[in-house]
Amino acid sequence: MQIVSIPCRADNYAYLLICDKTQRAVVVDPSEAEPVLKTIDTHGVKLVGIWNTHHHYDHVGGNKEVLERVPEAQVIAHESDRGRVPGQNVFVSDGEHIDAGGELQAQVIFNPGHTSGAISFYMPAQQAVFTGDTLFASGCGRLFEGTPQQMFASLTALTSLPADTRIYCGHEYTLSNLRFAAVVEPKNTEIQERAQAVQALRDAGEPSMGFRVAEERATNIFVRVGEPGVMAAARAEGAEDDSPVAVFAALRRWKDRF
Ligand code: ZN
Ligand code: FE
Repeated sequence: MQIVSIPCRADNYAYLLICDKTQRAVVVDPSEAEPVLKTIDTHGVKLVGIWNTHHHYDHVGGNKEVLERVPEAQVIAHESDRGRVPGQNVFVSDGEHIDAGGELQAQVIFNPGHTSGAISFYMPAQQAVFTGDTLFASGCGRLFEGTPQQMFASLTALTSLPADTRIYCGHEYTLSNLRFAAVVEPKNTEIQERAQAVQALRDAGEPSMGFRVAEERATNIFVRVGEPGVMAAARAEGAEDDSPVAVFAALRRWKDRF
């Protein structure tokens, strides 16, 4: 399977997943139609599905126009997003298997927190997961419709996937996330090394996507809440105690005003 990152809007990514055996494809989060349709044409593939991680406009903004081109496409989002995802015709829940033919097989991971209906698309055979605005590289989405408990559980589930799983998220926020992480955990040299590596990628015009679960465990302060340094930093920013959710909640509030 080929994964093509498609830059959209200011800092979004849509992803075109192409099955090498069938030349069929699905698109994850077409935030706008034009760059997505262009990529489909360039690769000469047949689009069979739109997979939406959540209902926000910068993830579903291209649904309608893409559907005008391929009205028969399946539009998949969480069952609770009924009514807020344009064109949705498949309503999935946690653990459900999605079969779009050939290599386009995914498992739904329900991960509320950023929104109440947020899901990730996990493709075990491809060692890839598409996390929308839940898990970012060295970061996580804001809590618009969920609680710290929910988001922390969601991030824990995603970073519990096999260490070599490649992560593709909804926004290119990696460098600014790493800047915050370096303030929270200044002694973590892996954060600094990752920041250098990502800076080099960005300077070369490359996306920072396709990073590994192992890197998140090492550099994502939002799941490193058991580290003494992270707990101390969170305490200094108002965490009520050292429990994982209290530390997470304090870090998230801190990042909101960082
Ligand atoms: Zn969002
Ligand atoms: Fe977004």
